Amino acid sequence: MVRKVDHIGVAVSNLEEALKTYTDVLGLELQGTEVVEEQKVRVAFMPVGDTEIELLESTDPEGPIAKFIEKRGQGIQHIAFRVDNIEEALERMRQKGVRLIDEKPRYGAGGARIAFLHPKATGGVLVELCERK
Ligand code: ZN
Repeated sequence: MVRKVDHIGVAVSNLEEALKTYTDVLGLELQGTEVVEEQKVRVAFMPVGDTEIELLESTDPEGPIAKFIEKRGQGIQHIAFRVDNIEEALERMRQKGVRLIDEKPRYGAGGARIAFLHPKATGGVLVELCERK
């Protein structure tokens, strides 16, 4: 069901500053940036092997990333797992009684279809399911 770690989401307060670390220091290549209005974030992607690092900067002080940084500081915010069929994966979670944040898939950066599980259901780790065509 889960194919791989699709990406690791990192909350940052300043995207340009954070990018320096990943590109200059670690030598990763920036693939692109995108604003996802619905989630109030600006996202930057950097492929690493067959996975990616996703940097997330809030575009709104009330957005989920701003709230996350306020509470916990900058750092790893979520782990995204690639699934073949997100509806099927969500249905399986429901059957297992897993608490979900998203009952239905929504739009994710890069054209993915994503859904978050509740971190209380997964030992404090915010898990994203991610389907890409
Ligand atoms: Zn993500």
